Amino acid sequence: MKRIGLLGATGSIGVQTTDIIRKHPEQFALFAMAFGRNVEKALPLINEFNPEIVVVQDPDVKETLKRQGYQGLIYVGTEGMYEVATHPEVDVVVNAVMGSVGLSSTLGAIEANKQVALANKETLVTAGHLVMDAAKRNNVSILPIDSEHSAIHQCLNGESKKDANKIILTASGGSFRDKKREELENVTVEDALNHPNWSMGAKITVDSATMMNKGLEVIEAHWLFDMPYDQIEVIQHRESVIHSMVEYVDKNVIAQLGTPDMRVPIQYALTYPNRLELNQTKTLNLVDIGTLHFEEMDFARFPCLRLAYEAGRVGGTMTTVLNAANEQAVALFLNGEISFLTIETLIERALEAHDAIEHPNLETIQRVDEETRELVKSYVK
Ligand code: NDP
Ligand code: MG
Repeated sequence: MKRIGLLGATGSIGVQTTDIIRKHPEQFALFAMAFGRNVEKALPLINEFNPEIVVVQDPDVKETLKRQGYQGLIYVGTEGMYEVATHPEVDVVVNAVMGSVGLSSTLGAIEANKQVALANKETLVTAGHLVMDAAKRNNVSILPIDSEHSAIHQCLNGESKKDANKIILTASGGSFRDKKREELENVTVEDALNHPNWSMGAKITVDSATMMNKGLEVIEAHWLFDMPYDQIEVIQHRESVIHSMVEYVDKNVIAQLGTPDMRVPIQYALTYPNRLELNQTKTLNLVDIGTLHFEEMDFARFPCLRLAYEAGRVGGTMTTVLNAANEQAVALFLNGEISFLTIETLIERALEAHDAIEHPNLETIQRVDEETRELVKSYVK
């Protein structure tokens, strides 16, 4: 029986994780769950799974939860999530919060020698070197939930990494893949949130539309698989059937395929190196799909992908700035304060204004993260 600490329980990945736990009560128990402010979504989960600890974002959410009659342990904020991530009774930490706020919990879980199932890619973008150093020191493997990285993980299984020529990440293209750049001037939040293949949280859906999501995933792959940026390629593949591939020195290419259902990579991260049945997901039917399409990425059409490669190659705090500027700009867009195309403008300005610091420690990363958010807000005022 694995006892799970689930951070971001009310989110898209969080809820799908609870679905896996529900289907395998003999394998998994929800020991603790953290969420932000969405009490309405959290309460049914709390009532069903009866976790020992619940973590909420703010003290006022704690009061609301108490008023609703919840009498168990309630922790607050990032400190509360850290307590769960390092709790002696937690075996697996599923980090599915949105944003770099998940960083300290990821680091805590690694230092506490937990199995870490990581959806929170911002953790690796903002501080990949710290995370991977800690993982190496503690001999902890980080199991990716992101579908592309779960695919690569499986394509590398049993292989020698030095034989891998390159990683090929596939990109669905997001909500605006069939629009020209000129057509993006007046797109709305609602348009951006309408993803063709996946149903996900708001921030990552906008990231998919700007292609920043793929940029973040390039950096995520760089850290997880210790691969230089020149050996990470992105191609557009609109059907999201091939989740990613690895090309080897002998030109063998190994791909992982499946229907677009995040429960598949979530469950694999929980059961690795074993597999469990997952009856509720559809079987992939290639005959029904018939044709798969692949296209070269257009870096002029998707400047966020270019910015991510550039920031990744500079390294140090440059990717911290990339991530924080993106989080802030997307929040402003979702709040109706800026247009869709202003997202990339703000990120580029923040990157240009920054002199990267090499090998930053956690404090430096947190300071640069905060300063970048303020800077981006000041551009809009
Ligand atoms: P959602 O926005 O759906 O969920 C985010 C979760 O984090 C919610 O439970 C939210 O609580 C919680 N949260 C947000 N801010 C805080 C905070 N400050 N303190 C505590 N909890 C907080 O996001 P997704 O599930 O879509 O994505 C989560 C992560 O997984 C992201 O890093 C994303 O990039 C990654 N990912 C997601 C995929 C997907 O299919 N959704 C695919 C691959 C990766 P509340 O509901 O109360 O606001
Ligand atoms: Mg992905």
